[in-house]
Amino acid sequence: MAKRDCYEVLSVERGAGPDDIKKAYRTLAVKHHPDKNPGDKSAEEKFKELGEAYDILSDPQKRALYDQHGHAAFDRRAGGSGAGGFHDPLDIFREVFGGSGIFENLFGGGSSDATQPQRGNDLRYDMEITFEEAAHGCEKEITLTKPDTCETCQGSGAEPGSRARTCPNCRGRGQVINSRGIFSIAQNCPNCQGAGQVFEKPCKSCRSEGRRERSSKIKLRIPAGVDTGSRLRSAGNGEAGFRGGPAGDLYVVLHVKAHSIFQRDGDDLLCEVPVSFIQAALGAEIEVPALDGKAAIRVPPGTQPGTMFRLKGKGIMNVQGYGHGDLHVRINVEVPTHLSAAQKAKLQEFAELCSGKENPLSQGFFEKAKSLFH
Ligand SMILES: [Zn+2]
Ligand SMILES: [Zn+2]
Repeated sequence: MAKRDCYEVLSVERGAGPDDIKKAYRTLAVKHHPDKNPGDKSAEEKFKELGEAYDILSDPQKRALYDQHGHAAFDRRAGGSGAGGFHDPLDIFREVFGGSGIFENLFGGGSSDATQPQRGNDLRYDMEITFEEAAHGCEKEITLTKPDTCETCQGSGAEPGSRARTCPNCRGRGQVINSRGIFSIAQNCPNCQGAGQVFEKPCKSCRSEGRRERSSKIKLRIPAGVDTGSRLRSAGNGEAGFRGGPAGDLYVVLHVKAHSIFQRDGDDLLCEVPVSFIQAALGAEIEVPALDGKAAIRVPPGTQPGTMFRLKGKGIMNVQGYGHGDLHVRINVEVPTHLSAAQKAKLQEFAELCSGKENPLSQGFFEKAKSLFH
């Protein structure tokens, strides 16, 4: 098969200068690069053909020979042994583009692809709630100022009714190659800021970013049983995405205020209840506070300070729904103060009636300590 004319392959005039030839090669080689056209045989052929044409026309000596004899000049030189004498087309490509590092950027590959829609950032919001709100669950409304979808353009970045077109400067790649000495550096296209497209009429409200800083109200449902450190996810309430990408999520981190009566241990509650020494001695029905109002405990006669009572299921509802914790009540016996003369006399009278067996703890203790007293 006859080889195509080198000038035709690169679509340049016969008198084209070296810069025009290089420019033409760059454009076409990127278009037909095998990485960009996997499995496409004709693109592979074209890419090879481009490399060969560029190899000839970029070398003044080869170009002079070609201008005189056409492709035949090289057939003769190679001694009829085929297409020897030409560089590997991929080597030529790398030579022109200055190293393989550029490569990924050229085709908009890699993770930092500025032309694709991007998900918005997640946000964290710290919130303080009361003990009761944590125990029972609640609804909250918060006001957040964050990048939100632009209402004017609905996130598209273009004025309503106008269209976006491919950026002519970077041809939609979002990046341009700048040569600095021997290095070529891929940079965000200054014309489209890396978006790869420009708008006929950019949205004025958001300067075509598609999002705008805005204050919005967000409703949150806080389930019963949450505790300090609980993290709630509010899907889609983070920052708006770029160029129509999905929004990030909002994470609400909870801080539960301390309660004046209850202490919390997981789903269990602890409450210390003072009783009079008379109630403790004689026994009594006492009321204790609970989350849903109050509960009753029967304190038996002779109840000692520190005695614990457990009220099953009177604790906090498990946040995963595994039932309720328990309420633990610790009895604190209060010794009376500010006694009147009459009260003191009665207690004195009571003391005279005591034999010692009313206080077995004291009795046992002093028996054991006797040896130390001498
Ligand atoms: Zn807008
Ligand atoms: Zn551009």
